[in-house]
Amino acid sequence: MLNSFLSRLSGDYLFRRTGELIREYEVSNPDKRILRLGIGDATLPLLPEICDAMSTAAVELSHYNCGYQDERGQLFLRESIASHYARLGVSLSPEEIFVSDGAKRDLGDLFDLFGDVTVVMQEPYYPPYLDNAIMRGLRYGFISANAENCFLPEPREVESYAPCVIILCSPNNPTGIAYPRELLERWVDFALSSGSHIIFDSAYGSFTTTGCPASIFEIGGARECAIEVSSLSKSAGFTGVRCGWSVIPHELESLSRMWSRRQGSRFNGLSYVTARGGEAALSEGCVEKLKLQRAVYLSGARAIRHGLDELGREYVGGIDSPYIWMKIPSGDSSWEYFRYLLEEKQVALTPGAGFGGEGYMRISAFGTGEMKNEE
Ligand code: PLP
Repeated sequence: MLNSFLSRLSGDYLFRRTGELIREYEVSNPDKRILRLGIGDATLPLLPEICDAMSTAAVELSHYNCGYQDERGQLFLRESIASHYARLGVSLSPEEIFVSDGAKRDLGDLFDLFGDVTVVMQEPYYPPYLDNAIMRGLRYGFISANAENCFLPEPREVESYAPCVIILCSPNNPTGIAYPRELLERWVDFALSSGSHIIFDSAYGSFTTTGCPASIFEIGGARECAIEVSSLSKSAGFTGVRCGWSVIPHELESLSRMWSRRQGSRFNGLSYVTARGGEAALSEGCVEKLKLQRAVYLSGARAIRHGLDELGREYVGGIDSPYIWMKIPSGDSSWEYFRYLLEEKQVALTPGAGFGGEGYMRISAFGTGEMKNEE
């Protein structure tokens, strides 16, 4: 018998499908150059300090074998992650941090912690939230983020599901909007009063520029109800190097114990070389340099916003994150508009339907780093 939940997943993974369509167009039109503002992949090179740390670590391995590493992640890396949180004013013990090879893995795996519960996510959503709920056979529900609620859903919208597992992503992919502090306080209060848990995805936390919290643990009470998932993918360009983590506070004692037990059987820790790169990325010496790197993507987002303003387009985002969520100006579906932009304008965006947000397109300013590389 095959796993029937897996067969319930729809078609291809979104970015595989858009990638194929772009490649097909390129093959048939080799003289055309495409402006790639579709996927959220880092394009600027890694900082030399990070690469040096990884090459030193690789050379160290020619002198001794580091052997299996702690399945929760090397202590030096967990301490570096704790200092990253300390810079946000959040005090964490390294024992509350579980290292992984990226946020996507943990976002799916953390569902192992929950049984008979509904997972509630904002719609539009980052596609793996839904796919993972389906693959685990969990019930799921949506709360709409739309122009009427300024793309910031309120806790009252999940009352009918509570107690439940609420996934919040801020700054949000795909809308690019960050949740303000007061709204996160209301979400935490709701989770505490309804016996719900929050899984907070802060993969883009380091992009915030308007004072919105970068971590759910900046909010009082979050330690009693929230798990945070994050990574160095977008903040330090680790999309291909892979280093992430989850934070499960001591207050969530049984979840922490269960996760520790699960990781012992399912994960053999992060590669030593990557861990040294992660440590370097989180070091004081790299903080300002990485801020400048993210500023390059955000200035790309600013340029895109100015262009959209000139065209009179409706959009949100692009201030606290490199993503912009643009309303389709015609009556086209988002896949039709994707094809129109690709074939007529040689611009690749991502169709909103792939995020459960028909009528919109996601524009990613990560591609603007590639232009910077070419300068
Ligand atoms: N969370 C969100 C909202 C994302 O957009 C992404 C990647 O695009 C991830 C998590 C996964 O990141 P990672 O590369 O750490 O697996």
